[in-house]
Amino acid sequence: MTGRMKRISILGATGSIGQSTIDLVRRDKGAFDVVALTGGRNIARLAEDARALGAALAVTAHDDLLDDLRAALKGTGIEAAAGSAALNEAAARPADWVMSAIVGAAGLAPGLAALGQGATLALANKETLVAAGPLVMAAARASGARVLPVDSEHSAIFQALRGEDPDTVDRVVITASGGAFRDWPLERLARATPLEAATHPNWDMGQRITIDSASMFNKALELIEAKELFGFEPERIEVLIHPESLVHALVGFHDGGMIAHVGPPDMRHAIGHAMYWPRRTALPVARLDLAEIGQLSFRAPDPRRYPALGLARQVMAAGGLAGAVFNAAKERALDHFIAGHIGFCHMSEVVEEVLARQMTCGHAGAGGFGLDEVMSADRGARLCADAVVVERQG
Ligand code: NDP
Ligand code: MG
Repeated sequence: MTGRMKRISILGATGSIGQSTIDLVRRDKGAFDVVALTGGRNIARLAEDARALGAALAVTAHDDLLDDLRAALKGTGIEAAAGSAALNEAAARPADWVMSAIVGAAGLAPGLAALGQGATLALANKETLVAAGPLVMAAARASGARVLPVDSEHSAIFQALRGEDPDTVDRVVITASGGAFRDWPLERLARATPLEAATHPNWDMGQRITIDSASMFNKALELIEAKELFGFEPERIEVLIHPESLVHALVGFHDGGMIAHVGPPDMRHAIGHAMYWPRRTALPVARLDLAEIGQLSFRAPDPRRYPALGLARQVMAAGGLAGAVFNAAKERALDHFIAGHIGFCHMSEVVEEVLARQMTCGHAGAGGFGLDEVMSADRGARLCADAVVVERQG
């Protein structure tokens, strides 16, 4: 940094990643000038953080909560706004660094708006790259903006690649804890409840990504994310189950060496790395005692337990809008699982069915596309997922 304060905005400030980001900002307040914070339903949290950080603008995604937000910010001089257009405007406010930590496809348009104004985009919202990777990377190239990964595995790859020639990379391995059910007998999985799925063995994260970890849909999204972010060929990207969640990724080079990234399961490491990049700064995360940990273990994922990984490979092979369809179908299947409409194992069946139907009716696999096509494929896939769920119940 050049002496002046770094202007930052945090999209999804009230969530798990948003709060970890704010924790780091609060510890180094003099370094940051907070432009905008955005949230959803948690108005109290949003207003409190906007006050504490002296943000210029606070936005809720929900129009019906604007009055509440205004009331909570009364007398502070902090501007309040609501709705999806306001989210995009918040992201487009001039800033040096924008954290993209909204959950789901709702993060796509604001992320593109941030890239459009040339801000560095710290990307936690992997759905953005799954649904519209080529579009996002082209937007970054067009404005000269940089996308920095915040997902721990991708931050790990990014760190392992530092100073290396990308052409010498043979393979990339991303690790997965295996989620809440990694040791359950297969036949018990069908009866798993949302509450059981939302308990992660190692990481403390939002509800949706925690359930996606149990189903391995999270890792499926991350395979696609790695392809889009780094341009690796799909067959070079591997997944390994690593129950300790300490090695986040490994990069293998064509001389046979591998560089592994090891760190505590604390998102503030990856967030802080993106926040201060290209410098490294002391971060308030635990130092690992490897002698006490004793051993690190790895095993191949069982495709019967984790069908989501196979679906991600299909999506990468299809390209085009398949990622948008996949992500949207996954989001709806997850909604239906949380609502108790379908079982845990049905989620991947619903997504598989939606992919099959939307690919044949031409929604997926298309060539060049823009945001409108992505959003239309997203809507179509959501409707299709709802229809598949209704058919199953009938
Ligand atoms: P949370 O559910 O904890 O937080 C989501 C944030 O998005 C909240 O601020 C929420 O507001 C807001 N939000 C929800 N719906 C909408 C919407 N429709 N429009 C605008 N804002 C909305 O999620 P996480 O922090 O866990 O995850 C955020 C992103 O980061 C996801 O893409 C996830 O995959 C990714 N990620 C998360 C990791 C983690 O450790 N948590 C690790 C790696 C990646 P409110 O709560 O006020 O309603
Ligand atoms: Mg991850």
